[in-house]
Amino acid sequence: NISPAQPIIRQLDDAAINRIAAGEVVERPASAVKELVENAIDAGATRIDVAIADGGKTLIRVTDNGCGIAPDQLPMALSRHATSKIDGSDLLNIHSFGFRGEALPSLGAVGKLTITSRAKGQDAATIRVTGGTTDPVKPAALNQGTVVELRDLFYATPARLKFMRTDRAESQAIGDVIKRLAMAEPWIGFTLRDVSGGSEGRVTFRADAASGDLFEALHTRLTRVMGPEFTTNALKIDAEREGITLTGYAALPTYSRGAAVAQFLFVNGRPVRDKLLTGALRGAYADFLSRDRHPAAALFLECEPDRVDVNVHPAKSEVRFREPGVARSLIVTAVRSALTEAGHRASTTVAA
Ligand code: ADP
Ligand code: MG
Repeated sequence: NISPAQPIIRQLDDAAINRIAAGEVVERPASAVKELVENAIDAGATRIDVAIADGGKTLIRVTDNGCGIAPDQLPMALSRHATSKIDGSDLLNIHSFGFRGEALPSLGAVGKLTITSRAKGQDAATIRVTGGTTDPVKPAALNQGTVVELRDLFYATPARLKFMRTDRAESQAIGDVIKRLAMAEPWIGFTLRDVSGGSEGRVTFRADAASGDLFEALHTRLTRVMGPEFTTNALKIDAEREGITLTGYAALPTYSRGAAVAQFLFVNGRPVRDKLLTGALRGAYADFLSRDRHPAAALFLECEPDRVDVNVHPAKSEVRFREPGVARSLIVTAVRSALTEAGHRASTTVAA
């Protein structure tokens, strides 16, 4: 009979803590891209360029023209639970994508991370962290904004590396993440380049900053991301109920799909996958579509941040509404009435 030694409880060091947290935040290259692009959006950037190599496994580089980070703040950006976005006193009132202060330290624990940044009126500086070990801040040359470069993701975690899919599949997942974020930010210009071949690389996605009012900009952006087929078949949705607004486009039933591949829902600018909301969308089309068809739509719900809880999980895209019934009936009513009206228009045109 082997009697195990009495266990000893030890405090983990920061590097280990960051590596464990990274397991939650960074599942694959696309999740790293999501965190970095969200940071660029939070920084007020109007241009965001993403370069990747080998499906993001060897290189992810996100360049933005946002507010930048002052040199003396760079070490803070890499420290755990450090954020400029909330002060912790009001977790119900979050207006940014980030708030946990976990992404950068996590990425620095599972890859080789370099942040180069220049804030307004400050000198540019750079900081590097490899496998959780941070080098001192050094001077650099850069225009205003930030470049975050992540090399060799999971190089120190072979178990994770094994779970990565082909470069092609990872590149596709990265493209999907960028497109989803780009849908909600039509006034920001995005590019995705594959630099696996070296130098300038190949542009795989590009959406220039759209102009005009919300619907014009959204129309332009959705045409770019979902294709002109979608927008020419889409009805404008613009509704409000008890302080929740719903805007976007929903396609005519004739443009439906055999699978739910063209349903994009956003809550306060965040892409979400949410059973309640997709169920509401299905409900709106119930009278117009057979059971085996799926509607196509890009819909944006906006409300005061305290009416929806986004603090569910860093890598998950669920949300919890304080009054789920309001969001649900808003979608059902607004989309259904747009479809009904379009149906009337179509039948009167035929009759005339
Ligand atoms: P969070 O986004 O939750 O605050 P992160 O670890 O992603 O946590 O980033 C830490 C901090 O670093 C941010 O709060 C922000 O102040 C700063 N930061 C990160 N990326 C950028 C960027 N692209 N531009 C300006 N500041 C940034
Ligand atoms: Mg962040």
